[in-house]
Amino acid sequence: MIVTLLGTGTSSGVPLIGCACDVCRSIDFRDKRLRTSVHLDIDGKSFVVDTGPDFRQQMLRTGIQRLDAVLFTHEHKDHTAGLDEVRAYNFLQGQDVPVYAHQRVLNQLQTEYAYIFAEKKYPGIPRLQLNEIRNEPFEIEGVLFTPIDVLHHRLPVFGYRIHNFTYLTDLNYISDEELEKVYGTRILVLDALQIEPHISHFTLEQALALVERIRPEQTYFVHMSHKIGLHREVEKRLPPSIRLGYDGLKIEL
Ligand SMILES: [Zn+2]
Ligand SMILES: [Zn+2]
Ligand SMILES: [Zn+2]
Repeated sequence: MIVTLLGTGTSSGVPLIGCACDVCRSIDFRDKRLRTSVHLDIDGKSFVVDTGPDFRQQMLRTGIQRLDAVLFTHEHKDHTAGLDEVRAYNFLQGQDVPVYAHQRVLNQLQTEYAYIFAEKKYPGIPRLQLNEIRNEPFEIEGVLFTPIDVLHHRLPVFGYRIHNFTYLTDLNYISDEELEKVYGTRILVLDALQIEPHISHFTLEQALALVERIRPEQTYFVHMSHKIGLHREVEKRLPPSIRLGYDGLKIEL
């Protein structure tokens, strides 16, 4: 399996429009963060988790030529705003793109993208095949995905475990029961927004405390705000088994 971090930034991305802070003006490519999303290449099958506003740019710069399914974590715009762009894969592959999400998220997609689901369809719009998932393992193209039910303030969000890899974004709470599904994971990708407290995301300190409980071989933080600080400065304070993710990072496992 090859995991590619397509984006590692919070909802506004980094740099933030109009901001002149050190992080937003940094010339380090690792301080430039598109919205959080991940690509999974598993035995040649191609999956994307979330299609944020930067989806098109992320697919172009990563050179992803095939898409077998899209999975969603939750319905916030920084995770769904690029959905229209999946039509490129309709044209390439000549078939519908399967989408997997909680029913609540599917309902929201149908409201926000009403034209995609209209009875009379305009030519050239995305063609999607919606699949409802619940909090139980499911298979796509022979690959087993285990949802992990977490909380993002009060909003339930799905993380996913695939083999020895776990992806948890947009959360500030995980129950002991759900944590059981994460134990034994080799690679963890985890939300760590910033240093200061936040209502719906883990801070760096809270994320570190969770890593301490899970003890994966390697952890990468994502969904970072410009307020986290400069990539190279923050990493100096972390052990080698815990790194800040950056856009384009590939993890092989
Ligand atoms: Zn988000
Ligand atoms: Zn800034
Ligand atoms: Zn969110």
